[in-house]
Amino acid sequence: MKIVPKYEWIIWLYLIDSENPWPTVAIFSWIHWDEISGIRAAKKLLSDIRTWKIPIRKGRIMLLIWANRKAIKAGKRYMRDNLNRLFIDEIKGEWYEYERSKELKEVLKKCEYILDLHSTSWLSVPYIMTEKKHVPFAKKLWIPTMVVWWGQLGSAFITGDTDGYINSHWWVWFTFEAWDHLSPEWAKNAYRISLNYLSILKLIDESHFQEIAGDRKYVKMENIYICESGAFEFRLPLPENFQPIRKGVLIWMDGNKEVRAEKDMILVMPNIANPKKWEDVFFIGKLLK
Ligand SMILES: [Zn+2]
Repeated sequence: MKIVPKYEWIIWLYLIDSENPWPTVAIFSWIHWDEISGIRAAKKLLSDIRTWKIPIRKGRIMLLIWANRKAIKAGKRYMRDNLNRLFIDEIKGEWYEYERSKELKEVLKKCEYILDLHSTSWLSVPYIMTEKKHVPFAKKLWIPTMVVWWGQLGSAFITGDTDGYINSHWWVWFTFEAWDHLSPEWAKNAYRISLNYLSILKLIDESHFQEIAGDRKYVKMENIYICESGAFEFRLPLPENFQPIRKGVLIWMDGNKEVRAEKDMILVMPNIANPKKWEDVFFIGKLLK
């Protein structure tokens, strides 16, 4: 096994190579500054692999510790733009996140699988996001809650995330939301899912696999709400991810406009942090059997 820090020109990436080439798996952490569970998990994973507590048997891991390092140093969610909206081939620009996305796309191009570690600023159980075609694989990861059809939403407002980029290149992706920022178990969950992921792909021994407890729930994304006014306010007492909402309930005010549930729905990813004009505020989901 070889561990090479600073792989090529990309800083904070560790290439962990079993010298047994297939597959190459990327684990990304800390695309967003306020989501520190991923970095804690990635650091622990690196240390456990380094000390042979968890040896890798085959393939290569590209472990990215600080995805958006400049924003993190500055203590901001991002410098100019959300890095997780810049994973697009045709994008042009000269600012930091644009340059960083170019470097990271080169990493993704070398991988067959990616796990992107995040956490939520809203109340939520841990969940995983993927596409319909990867659901059988995702079920093996044993996460209670799964959100699918992200790519099929086809919304211009959410293009440019790591998921969409990978979808367009036919690799296998999962975004893991480890829990909300206030939950004590989030880093443990991010670490746990990383081990499950590597174990399913047989990069590490299957004895490292352990399911995450919770009721199984599959949610299909049906629509997205975008902030039109730049001034919004949730009107639900406690906007919690995956809460059911009855038709007609007032969800939020977009400036002076009331936004009510058009039908019975599941509230998905309420963005209570600070959506700007034309950013997503929440998604409308539907429970699947
Ligand atoms: Zn995030």
